Amino acid sequence: MSNSFRYDVVVVGGGPAGLSAAMTCARHGLSVILLERGRFAGAKNLFGGVVYTESVLSLAPDLFSEKRLPFERPVTEEGWWLLSEDGVVKITHTEKGLYEKPPRAYTAFRARFDPWLAQKAEEAGVLVIPKVKVLDLICANGKVSGVLVDRPRDWESSELAEVRAPVTIISEGVNRLLTQKAGLIPRDFTPEEVALSVKEVIQLPKGEVEKRFGLSEDEGLAVELLGEATLGFPGSGFLYTNTTSVSLGVGLFLSDFAEKGLKPYELLENLKKHPVMARLLSGGETLEYGAHLIPEWGLEGLPRLCGEGVMVVGDAAGLVNPLFREGTNLAIYSGIMAGKAAVFAHEKGDFGHETLKLYEEAFRESYIYRDLKYFRRLKKFLRENRSLFADYPEIINRVLHLYLSAQGRAKEEVFQEIFGLFRKRRGLTGLLRDFVKTFRFFKGW
Ligand SMILES: Cc1cc2nc3c(=O)[nH]c(=O)nc-3n(C[C@H](O)[C@H](O)[C@H](O)COP(=O)(O)OP(=O)(O)OC[C@H]3O[C@@H](n4cnc5c(N)ncnc54)[C@H](O)[C@@H]3O)c2cc1C
Repeated sequence: MSNSFRYDVVVVGGGPAGLSAAMTCARHGLSVILLERGRFAGAKNLFGGVVYTESVLSLAPDLFSEKRLPFERPVTEEGWWLLSEDGVVKITHTEKGLYEKPPRAYTAFRARFDPWLAQKAEEAGVLVIPKVKVLDLICANGKVSGVLVDRPRDWESSELAEVRAPVTIISEGVNRLLTQKAGLIPRDFTPEEVALSVKEVIQLPKGEVEKRFGLSEDEGLAVELLGEATLGFPGSGFLYTNTTSVSLGVGLFLSDFAEKGLKPYELLENLKKHPVMARLLSGGETLEYGAHLIPEWGLEGLPRLCGEGVMVVGDAAGLVNPLFREGTNLAIYSGIMAGKAAVFAHEKGDFGHETLKLYEEAFRESYIYRDLKYFRRLKKFLRENRSLFADYPEIINRVLHLYLSAQGRAKEEVFQEIFGLFRKRRGLTGLLRDFVKTFRFFKGW
């Protein structure tokens, strides 16, 4: 670590949120230290795998002049696969625009994407220090003035080192322990407020990603998996194609795992054994396996975003939109906004809440906040409408099976069976109720 333990800004956590905040500050001439507990930025991080290009361009406008992009494949086809017990209905979309430069999104690995961002931060002047865990905030009279780390002050000392800065940016991810210590949120999250997702990266033999998913070398597929993927519980799975591998994962609310006695790895195993998946993944070799929480506390769990000398960004604030798999981009945008507030505070020479609330104000003007408000009832909606996950994927599969197989039967009979199926699974009133509820939810009523 540096001889001087005083900086203009200290950032805790080297995920996209922290790295974006640090980069923004450093580019405006501030001295910035970023502390990351992992062996390197990204070492401890896991996500599904889709990064939205626009957010990356907002940090690295010269992205496409890079010799090697920090991604796997451009996403050229995306949508949903509705899994029944043994079948699938694929609803995917592709269009010419998805092939135009720059592609809207890429698949990626965090162990490659985060170090690339960290390198950009270092080029901007950020001192990125891995393998250092922040244990606590240095706080007096409600004002944060730095952090305490798990390293001795010097070689001979048994006292822990302090890193002082008038602005501390907390980007610690979903666990939000320091966010609580900063008094920005008074409580821990509950199992109903977080999803637990398990993911495997499965290597396929050369050329097989292209062959099995109908892609060329510069095309990529990103689909969410519903229905049997989560055994009908609210949640989703995902399948994203990488250069020579596939990222496969599935997640549910932590409370559902606990209440139903489900084991995360069993859920993923079940998904891998699904006949459609098993065929697509056959002969594949597991390269990576991991699990991670996703903050889904939404608007009601949103912490205060700033206090005296402190701000919180990214997952630590719960800035995730699971319906649109937005997380890394929101982390980046919030990091940039907080970084700008830190720069403003330094220009003003005032680090109090009144100054740092520039970040909070920018956030409230952003689409991130509008979306949090719009989807504020998402958890309740998902919980109260389990049939959307349990019944509909099965019904849709069955209906298509009946409709598409000529079977030597009178079509009147086929249609009777289809109507009978709807009546049995949901009933006419059930159907109507589901439609109205879903419509009202997406209307934001
Ligand atoms: C299974 C899964 C799938 C996802 N899929 C997508 C997707 O496809 N697209 C998308 O955009 N988003 C996705 N997300 C969400 C996305 O990963 C997060 O929103 C994003 O990573 C948040 O970034 P962050 O910087 O806030 O937090 P993180 O990426 O979690 O980074 C936090 C960092 O802080 C470090 N840290 C924590 N505490 C300390 C401490 N005390 N001292 C030092 N360092 C510390 C951690 O080691 C970590 O590096 C997914 C998430 C999961 C779990």
